[in-house]
Amino acid sequence: MSSVSKTGRKTWLDYLKPRKRGVPEGLWLRCKGCGETIFRSRLEENLGVCPEDGCGYHDYVSAKTRIAQLLDEDSFEEWFASLLPVDPLEFVDKKPYKKRLIEEQKRTGLKDACVVGKGYMRGRPLVFGLTDSAFIMGSMGSVVCEKLTRAVEQAMELELPLVILSGSGGGARMHEGIVSLMQMGKVSAALARYQEKGGLFISILTNPTMGGVAASFASLGDIVMAEPKALVGFAGPRVVEATVKQVLPDNFQTSEFLLEHGFIDRIVSRHDLRTEISRIIDFCGV
Ligand SMILES: [Zn+2]
Repeated sequence: MSSVSKTGRKTWLDYLKPRKRGVPEGLWLRCKGCGETIFRSRLEENLGVCPEDGCGYHDYVSAKTRIAQLLDEDSFEEWFASLLPVDPLEFVDKKPYKKRLIEEQKRTGLKDACVVGKGYMRGRPLVFGLTDSAFIMGSMGSVVCEKLTRAVEQAMELELPLVILSGSGGGARMHEGIVSLMQMGKVSAALARYQEKGGLFISILTNPTMGGVAASFASLGDIVMAEPKALVGFAGPRVVEATVKQVLPDNFQTSEFLLEHGFIDRIVSRHDLRTEISRIIDFCGV
């Protein structure tokens, strides 16, 4: 399937093309933002942000790396790590879901697309959860939202601030059918209870945050921040274009477009995330 839209713009499929994530690919790589060839180690030292002048493309980083970047050293205690996905529908697409799960687990080192737990950020305790687009596009299966829901409930019980970082190109996980669709309501209801009790929820959107993730917990933060130029939206631009029958603006579904339209509160570079989150927690006095 061609992934270039009629207007010649990159479509969301371009951003979601499978990459060999988690597998070292040599010393050099090509930046997806500016096209320059850069040293992998330079990119990694720069938190996965392109170091070329005027680029600053925020590349993918794994869940494990995110935790190391954001939280105080060795402070993260993972919760509910033993929750494993199952195959309630015995679903088969190109391959059986069961087989797909095993392959994804081996490739990414994750049990499913979500990790939650407690950690410290600049000495402040918080509940932290994140989704990783390397695992079936970070789609919302039952384990993803069960972990997130339990994390919200723990944040409520421990009276801690909650930070969830979304990196989910997929929405509901079709391999789990209706079981997957129910998850949006479940996690949203838990967040509503947490917010009624005065909890602080900071949502961080990274590239990509799409579908049911964008349409549920990722949009429900008291404060919603996004990394620069992240792809954030519900349906892909091609579907929207075909539905509304209008040519969409070039920056449609980027963090910058959504900031202009009031959907997010602030765009924050990856280098400043720790500072900004800590500052908001202090400001809210939780
Ligand atoms: Zn670049």
